[in-house]
Amino acid sequence: MAKIGDTLVCPVCGEKFTASSTRQVYCSSACRFGSKFSSPHEKKKRRAPGYTIEEISRAARRAGLSYGDYVARVGL
Ligand SMILES: [Zn+2]
Repeated sequence: MAKIGDTLVCPVCGEKFTASSTRQVYCSSACRFGSKFSSPHEKKKRRAPGYTIEEISRAARRAGLSYGDYVARVGL
């Protein structure tokens, strides 16, 4: 369980935030509600912070994999 002041990563938007309660999981109420009520249309593909889709697909091509295979293999 998180401690107050811990740096956590929001499972919805991937942003880092500082826990202000031991039960905090999401960075904001928008993300908390978004995780329950988000429509499939709004669901964003998770990707590693700091990498653009182009960078990942370029790396995938270098590795001889499709984008999806590469992401699954690397665990992004
Ligand atoms: Zn968030």
